[in-house]
Amino acid sequence: MRQVEPRIHVLPIPTPFPVGPVNVYLLEGEPLTLVDAGPLTDEALEALNKGVRELGYSLADIEQLLITHAHHDHFGLAREVVERSGATVLSFRENKPPLEDFDTWWEQRVAYVAEFVVRAGAPEEALRELEVMRGYRKYATSVPEVTPLDDNDEVQMGDTTWRAIHTPGHALGHLCFYQPDCELLLSGDHLLRDITSNPVLEAPRLGMTQRPRSLVDYKRSLLGIRELEARKVFPGHGEPVYDHRALVDEILAHHEERGRLILHLLREKQRTVYELGLALFGGNLPGVELFLVMSEIIGHLDVLELECKARRLERDGRSIWTAIL
Ligand SMILES: [Zn+2]
Repeated sequence: MRQVEPRIHVLPIPTPFPVGPVNVYLLEGEPLTLVDAGPLTDEALEALNKGVRELGYSLADIEQLLITHAHHDHFGLAREVVERSGATVLSFRENKPPLEDFDTWWEQRVAYVAEFVVRAGAPEEALRELEVMRGYRKYATSVPEVTPLDDNDEVQMGDTTWRAIHTPGHALGHLCFYQPDCELLLSGDHLLRDITSNPVLEAPRLGMTQRPRSLVDYKRSLLGIRELEARKVFPGHGEPVYDHRALVDEILAHHEERGRLILHLLREKQRTVYELGLALFGGNLPGVELFLVMSEIIGHLDVLELECKARRLERDGRSIWTAIL
């Protein structure tokens, strides 16, 4: 627990995931607000309880809970917080279905990924690896009711008014929160200093057939954030960011380079997403790592396709990618 600005505190909460602890922020004032909640584990609940108590409050005092995105490490404990406090939960409109009926949504998502992985050319064993991902269900549970936010909505958090900024990419319904007078940004997992934020593979939106192009969205969202005047950025994991523009440029350059590498591999020969994964990251792509690698590569292929540098061929139920010379 640490004060990062007057009346704003960060509570690092342990997670069972490779990413390490997640940052929950407590904003003092009216309404007493938490941004994100941590995963659904005993250790996380204990850490959250302790952190809030050290600041002179209890979980029962929380009046409002903002959720940046519908990933386990960020909202798993939301229901627990609501049950103890009666707090209002707010998140982006599109997060209502995953947050309010998490089990169904997660099941559908894992099924979509399994189908995708087969089309991407992965062997049968890879599907067994996805059981790890299915098992992640236990780290979150549905929230009774989510008050929907839209892009640009104002939200009173603690003593100040913040603006919700829709930043799709890492997650479809990802929100950052911006305070223009103090030039502060709560960036969730959209902008992280120490790890690369993965634009994850998403199933099509409700009623749509085309899946979102996560990396295309992510790059656009990054450019949007770059425009903001931000003195300090408080991310969902790791330490604050003081020069967000340099960091955005660095991330964009990294993606540019990766995209070039993938195009180079396609110029050598046609490949499936899985073969590209093996070429880039080596022989063994277990469970969740497989999912993240697939996500990253399909993201780059989406970009290359939009730039008319690569295209997809369908052959025997598999998607094969080829460079357009
Ligand atoms: Zn996260």
